[in-house]
Amino acid sequence: MNQPDFFDEGDLVGVLTTQPLDRLLDYKAPEGGCHLGAFVEVPLGPRKVLGVVWSAGRGDYDLAKIRSVIRVLDAAPMRDEMHIFIEKAAAYTLTPMPAMLRLGTRAPGLGDPPSMRKIYRRGTATPERLTDARRRVLDTLQRYGDLSFTLKELAEQAGVTSSVIKGLVKQGAVLEEDSPRDLPFLRMDPDRPGKDLTDDQKRAAAHLKAAIRTERYGTTLLRGVTGSGKTEVYLEAVAEALRMGRQALVLLPEIALTAEFLARVEARFGTRPAEWHSGATMTERRRIWRMVGQGQAQLVIGARSALFLPYQHLGLIVVDEEHDTSYKQEDGVLYNARDMAVLRASICGAHVVLASATPSLESWANAESGKYQRLDLKARFGPAVMPQMNAIDMRAETLSSGRWVSDTLKRAVDARLEAGEQAMLFLNRRGYAPITLCRACGHQVGCDQCDARMVEHRFLKRLMCHQCGDTKPIPEVCPSCGAEGRMAPVGPGVERLAEEATDLFPEARVAVLSSDLYGSARALKAEIEAIADGAADVVIGTQLVAKGHNFPQLTLVGVIDADLGLQGSDLRAAERTFQLMRQVAGRAGRAEKPGTAMLQTFQPEHPVIRAILAGDEEAFWRAEAAEREAAGVPPYGRMAGIILSGPDVGQVFDVANHLARNTAPLQQVGAQVFGPAPAPIARIRGRHRVRLLVKAGKGVALQGAVAKWVGQVRLKGDIRLAVDIDPQSFY
Ligand code: ADP
Ligand code: ZN
Repeated sequence: MNQPDFFDEGDLVGVLTTQPLDRLLDYKAPEGGCHLGAFVEVPLGPRKVLGVVWSAGRGDYDLAKIRSVIRVLDAAPMRDEMHIFIEKAAAYTLTPMPAMLRLGTRAPGLGDPPSMRKIYRRGTATPERLTDARRRVLDTLQRYGDLSFTLKELAEQAGVTSSVIKGLVKQGAVLEEDSPRDLPFLRMDPDRPGKDLTDDQKRAAAHLKAAIRTERYGTTLLRGVTGSGKTEVYLEAVAEALRMGRQALVLLPEIALTAEFLARVEARFGTRPAEWHSGATMTERRRIWRMVGQGQAQLVIGARSALFLPYQHLGLIVVDEEHDTSYKQEDGVLYNARDMAVLRASICGAHVVLASATPSLESWANAESGKYQRLDLKARFGPAVMPQMNAIDMRAETLSSGRWVSDTLKRAVDARLEAGEQAMLFLNRRGYAPITLCRACGHQVGCDQCDARMVEHRFLKRLMCHQCGDTKPIPEVCPSCGAEGRMAPVGPGVERLAEEATDLFPEARVAVLSSDLYGSARALKAEIEAIADGAADVVIGTQLVAKGHNFPQLTLVGVIDADLGLQGSDLRAAERTFQLMRQVAGRAGRAEKPGTAMLQTFQPEHPVIRAILAGDEEAFWRAEAAEREAAGVPPYGRMAGIILSGPDVGQVFDVANHLARNTAPLQQVGAQVFGPAPAPIARIRGRHRVRLLVKAGKGVALQGAVAKWVGQVRLKGDIRLAVDIDPQSFY
């Protein structure tokens, strides 16, 4: 790409906008000209839209009709590496470029003139009377050199009231000035002493530091059980990146971004990092976006979209809990943050750390093949040891109907409660009961819009569809046969399990941790923290408890249905069950108390259950890898999922059949097509869903072939086509 990097007024520029158009638009450079990569406002019809000067204009449009760029926004031009990243990410995920650019500009008011606020700096005068509080203010300002603070920040840092600062302003010892609102983040101090690392941890940290110093791309899989000190180790890597003057990004699954974690980072580096997540205020988002772009935010802790911030010199990306499925968003832009982190790092010469207790098979295989390096932290830090894993053979237990906790598990919980410890009952099912059944005719209440059963949520006093979120009242009368009073809940959800726990353990405080029971992520996190502090004796939890929280009092985890995840036909069913069970078990016994995990299962001899019990991860991965390799599926082959959907099932199948018959572009690369078939969930929100699956060999450039193939059909009416490269789940 041989581009001029500056365009004079009137030169033609090609602008990529965030609007859903499939090409660049030509404009004339504005008065004063503009840089390649400049963020600009351009006219589009009657509107003004955001765009980026992407290239020189093509000039194949009537020159007289070409309009001018309205203005260049007050933001650093997009860097070359971001430009490349957006192009490659779009090509990899088959996402239109404007949608990718939208991810890269998710900060409101980028073009607004910066608003002002009052800031405080060291003045020259000496105060008349140097009280302790006043001295602390001056010391704080001294310590941070020429940085400035807001009133609130300074008061907090110095531990004084704002009137102390105002008093110093009057005397000229502190200066009060107007300053733009988007303040730089405070400098982090990588040389504050960290924890004394164990030998194992030291080795891992040294390896990562050396990798960062090369300033070349590389990826390391950092594996270690929960509590082995992965976080301590990668914070050392962050410190090294900061020392080298490079920026660092730590990605976490959103729910793991807790106050506890942030406090830990602050303790290590002396000040808070930039926090990028869905709860951040608009002002804060804008500030982070700008400061990251100016290199004035050294460390970003964030959810997956933080990958699209305009870093100046990114040196390290950590993907914590790298196996977590929430890194692949299943709606909107389909990308896996883990893969995009690797892509981004390879463009800018950064190192990637993938941290997990239970890596994804993809990452494990990449480490086996030498594509990634691998570091193992063997033991848990300090006295805590991995929990003991036991199976409860449910074939030998007798349970009365409507009961899910076996006697064996009940006795184990009783023992923990007597010892004043916490126990957790894990069930990966929200709501009260997954099925509402008519005892007279056998009818099961389903969603009117989806091909799914309605789940009873007693807490809401309604039935809910977990696909579309639609709800309806719990029927008194069977909607099918009209029988009265015969509708009954079947099967357990966490709400029902809580009811049973209250019965079985009348003295215990029972708490349910399920994402739908709390109004906000914040409320949920607050509850998690309260429970960690001992606010409950028996915790009933869904999947979300598996994500990196610390429950120091917890010494027993009882898994109600260890077989649940193995039922699906999903490619990753075994892997998911293995990871989830290991992660959940890892909640037990984090502090000084050893833990136990008990798995209720009807198939204790199933290879996955046996691998979980034996704790033999390498054996599990090898077996799973061998199976996938034999089947030619990821990571040993490539896949793309195509979902066609529309209100009319016949029309949807027509398009799907047309594609299935015209596969020349796929044949050219040796890819095969399976389907069409109704998707596992054949109807969502009234739209019928039909899927095709493309399979190809490992080295195949699948995206280009798929793009050509689906490009053969013109979608008429309300039919939609979505391509999912490397699908994570099949629904
Ligand atoms: P992981 O990320 O693998 O779950 P953490 O880094 O969170 O593990 O470590 C678990 C706990 O043990 C944390 O509270 C951490 O501060 C502590 N810890 C780990 N390593 C050390 C160490 N070398 N010295 C002191 N505390 C440590
Ligand atoms: Zn529904």
